[in-house]
Amino acid sequence: MMPKIISSNAPEVEFRARPVKGVPLYIKEETIVSMTDHADTGYCENKEVLGLLIGHILKDDEGMYVRVTGAATSGLEADEVSVRFSKETIEGLFDSMDKCEGDMVVGWYHSHLGIGCYLSDVDIRTHAGIFGDEIGFAIVIDPSDSTLAAFSCKDSSPQKVPLIVLA
Ligand SMILES: [Zn+2]
Repeated sequence: MMPKIISSNAPEVEFRARPVKGVPLYIKEETIVSMTDHADTGYCENKEVLGLLIGHILKDDEGMYVRVTGAATSGLEADEVSVRFSKETIEGLFDSMDKCEGDMVVGWYHSHLGIGCYLSDVDIRTHAGIFGDEIGFAIVIDPSDSTLAAFSCKDSSPQKVPLIVLA
């Protein structure tokens, strides 16, 4: 069984105006650093890496938005694409997460080695497997040229979204 993502329509979603209009994703700087460090480490070993984004969903007049406060990597890495994106791998990540109060899985990240930042068909299926129709963001990092991009993915159609890094 894939872990169930808590519904973003849950009544406990806090109503609070987002810091910047039109931006749905806010990430702590230290989380960006930990993701890019993870991707860099993998790159040195010629491996792609994978992790989950932990944080909170909030809402305002524009709709839902997400604040990412941490990343769960748990040292889970594999060098074969089929292994890395298996349900077992992602279930393992969920299992290894500390159950922090109020924190939930709001996205996932992985690296691409020298092929740029986009969501492949496999990535789109992985995203749909984790989030279904609920809010969730996919971050792709290419450590070969230090690029990073964030995507939402509705109806199997990835869309690049702006993100803001919070100190
Ligand atoms: Zn990918």
